[in-house]
Amino acid sequence: QTHLLSLSLQAKMSRPVQARRLEGIDKNIWVEFVKLAATYSTVNLGQGFPDFPPPDFLKEAFVRALSGENHMLHQYTRAFGHPPLVKILAQFFGKLLGRDLDPMTNVMVTVGAYQALFCCFQAFVDDGDEVIIIEPFFDCYEPMVKMAGGMPVFVPLRPKAPKDGKLMSSADWQLDPAELASKFSDRTKAIVLNSPNNPLGKVFSRGELEVIADLCVKYDVLCISDEVYEWLVYDGKEHIRIASLQGMWDRTVIIGSAGKTFSATGWKVGWTVGPNRLLQHLCTVHQNSVYHCATAAQEAVAQGFQRELKLYGKPESYFIQLPKELQQKRDWLVQSLDAVGMKPIIPEGTYFLVADISEFKSDVPDVPDSDEPYDSRFAKWMVKNKGLAAIPLSAFYCGAHKNNYNHFIRFCFAKEEATLKAANDILQKWKREKTNP
Ligand code: PMP
Repeated sequence: QTHLLSLSLQAKMSRPVQARRLEGIDKNIWVEFVKLAATYSTVNLGQGFPDFPPPDFLKEAFVRALSGENHMLHQYTRAFGHPPLVKILAQFFGKLLGRDLDPMTNVMVTVGAYQALFCCFQAFVDDGDEVIIIEPFFDCYEPMVKMAGGMPVFVPLRPKAPKDGKLMSSADWQLDPAELASKFSDRTKAIVLNSPNNPLGKVFSRGELEVIADLCVKYDVLCISDEVYEWLVYDGKEHIRIASLQGMWDRTVIIGSAGKTFSATGWKVGWTVGPNRLLQHLCTVHQNSVYHCATAAQEAVAQGFQRELKLYGKPESYFIQLPKELQQKRDWLVQSLDAVGMKPIIPEGTYFLVADISEFKSDVPDVPDSDEPYDSRFAKWMVKNKGLAAIPLSAFYCGAHKNNYNHFIRFCFAKEEATLKAANDILQKWKREKTNP
C-alpha cells in the first residue's frame, strides 16, 4: 500500500509545475553576468549602476523621511503613487511637455522602471498581439512581451561606418525607415522606444522620432517610451520626448526612473506619465500585483524633484551637473579604449559605451560552431582572466539575431575616477602583454 501511495504521489509530482507563459524565458543575462562579476571582477563596468553616491540633498531627504516627525511615512501610502511625488511629477513633466497634467490620473508610481514596463505589457498586450522592439534593446522587453502572450517583432538599428577613419558615434546606428514601416501592420499593438538607448547610448533625433510617430498614428499603435536616461545626454544634444510630437500624447506612456535620474538604482522608484485612457489600465495591473511602493523612498524622490524644479536649467541643478560629470567620464573611457585598440562607439547619451573587440580576437579565438556568441565568450574570458567585467552586446539582441553583431561589449562609465583608472590600468597592461608576449 505504501508503494501504491508513493506511485500516486509521483504521478502528481510529474505534472508540469511551470506555467506555459514561462517557457523559453528562464535565462537572464544579469543573473549570469552579475554572478561572474561578483566572483571574478576587480573592476566592474558591467551592470548599469553608479559606484558613486547619490547627491546629498537626496540622501538627506530620505533620512528626514525615516527619522522625522511624520511617522505615517513608515506606513502604506496611496497605491498609485505617494501624493507629494505624483504632484511634483505632474508639475515637472507638465512643464517639460507643455501640458497640464493631473497628478491623480496622468502619473503612476512603480517599483522602478522595470515594473512600469511590466505593467505596460500586461495592460496592453493580448494573445498574439505584435510588439515592435528596436535592436539592440534593454533585454527584458522580449520576455515581458512573451509573458503577456504577445509576439515581439524586431527591427535593427543598422551601423554605417564613419568616414575618414573617425570613431563611430551612436548616431551612426540608424533605423531604415522602409524596414521599420514593413514591421507595422494591423497586428501591431505597440512599439517600445528607448531613447536615450541602452546599450548604444543613441539619442533619437527629432526626424527619427517623427518617422516612428507617423507610423504609430497611421497604424493606431501605442508607444511605450522608456526614457530612464532622459537627463544623461551629452555634447549639447537634446532629449526629445516622443509624447510631445503630433498625435502621440494620447498613445504614449512615458517611463522614468529615480534610479537613473538621481543615481540611486537601489531605491527602485519609477514612474509612468501618460493619458488617463492608458494609465487607468496600468493601475489595474498595479493594484493586482504590487499595489504599494515604498513610502519613504517616494517622499525623498518627491523632495528631490521639488529641488530640481526650483533649480531647473540653473548650473546647480543635478540634472545639469550629473551629465556634465558623466560626459567627462565618457571621454575618459573613450580615450582609454581607443588607446588600446578596443574601438569605442561614442555614446550621445546614457552611461553606457559599446566597444569593438575585433582587435583582441587572438586572445579569445572563435569557436565557429559554438552556440554561444563570440562576444559572450569574450566577456566571460575577460572577467575571469583580466578581472574586468563588461556585458556582451549580443545580450541585447533576440535569439535569432545574436550573431549579427557579436564582436562588441558594453561598459558602464557611471563610476568613480579610481574605478575608471583601474580599468585603464588593466587595459594598458593587457595591451603591453599583447605587443610583447
Ligand atoms: N529601462 C532601461 C533602458 C534600463 O536600462 C533600466 C535599468 N538598467 C530599466 C529600464 C530599469 O530601471 P529601474 O532600475 O528603475 O527598474
